[in-house]
Amino acid sequence: MRTIKGWCPGAHRPMMSGDGLIARIRPRLGRLTTEQVLGLCDISCTHGNGIIDLTSRANLQMRGMVEANHAMVLDRLAALDLLDADPSVEARRNIIATPLWHSGDMTERLHHDIVACLPALPDLPAKMGIALDTGPTPMLGAASADFRFEQGGDGALILRADGSNRGWAIDADDAPQALIEMAHWFCNTGGRMAGRMAHHLLTTPLPPDWETHLARPMTNPLQAGRLNEAQIFGAPFGSLNARALAALVTDTKTTGLRCTPWRLFLLEEAETVADTHGFVTDANDPILRAHACSGAPACASATVETRTIARVLAPKHPKGLHVSGCSKGCAHPRPAPLTLVGDNGAYDLVENGHPWDQPRKRGLSADDLKTIPD
Ligand code: SF4
Repeated sequence: MRTIKGWCPGAHRPMMSGDGLIARIRPRLGRLTTEQVLGLCDISCTHGNGIIDLTSRANLQMRGMVEANHAMVLDRLAALDLLDADPSVEARRNIIATPLWHSGDMTERLHHDIVACLPALPDLPAKMGIALDTGPTPMLGAASADFRFEQGGDGALILRADGSNRGWAIDADDAPQALIEMAHWFCNTGGRMAGRMAHHLLTTPLPPDWETHLARPMTNPLQAGRLNEAQIFGAPFGSLNARALAALVTDTKTTGLRCTPWRLFLLEEAETVADTHGFVTDANDPILRAHACSGAPACASATVETRTIARVLAPKHPKGLHVSGCSKGCAHPRPAPLTLVGDNGAYDLVENGHPWDQPRKRGLSADDLKTIPD
């Protein structure tokens, strides 16, 4: 088995972290059947540490796997139809879909066609991805993607390069070819050096024909709570306890789970239950506005604990809180009203900034943090 620290961890190529190997699973269209959820939870408890991350690209990461179990995990994921047989296809399947797609719609059709064309794409930087934001209203604007399929302002299907507010009007049948063409343009114009599409567009203009149709304004992402027959649950810090998730899925008698990039997951046709097993149904719960990476000891780069302290501080800082194990800021690489950054076993305090910005105070203990005014 090949493990690469710092690599985007796929199921075939897990990444080592402080709590063992991380294996990323990319559910097709972000959906798992109930059977797949229960199977994955069992794998996590049997071969991992019982924690599954819900990522900002609407994927799932099994944590805490030991190397000796990797082959068995792959077999079990394959039996659940949660694994591409070909590691190179799995690595390229960086596709995020609107969570509100339904059977037979444009998003499902595009997903089928785009997956089929992945082998024809040039080699792109590993972090590049595709958004299928073709539901009733676009909502994936803040989710990481470089090639965005959307309904334009005039209702036409567009392919929009991330970083431009205009797109290229295409027929749905031509979507794979348009994607291949745009990906080749990116590579042939030096995009690999820039790394991502939006960065590349800062110096390299798109062909004019690819910016003819204005994109629609983004709507707000989903919120925790009921949505018709479905129930949307918040997962604090994007962390799913596998036993709790299995119990919730069983109790709600749901038909399937859909991942979102907002630390929320949607259970289809879910019955209302009194015990939500620690998952959040109140959209105003301040824990949903608190960010915290896995911190110490799960991440080898961290020198401080993050999530317990974030849970304690979140109600006092409802405007937004970020506790980051180090200045990399994985959980929220954006400004927050209050950011606490681990450094050499203590916390630095940044106001209205990023984790890597100049702190206003340094060297705070966990007890000091409890007295910070809101
Ligand atoms: S921000 Fe630092 S400590 Fe937290 S997960 Fe990322 S690398 Fe690890």
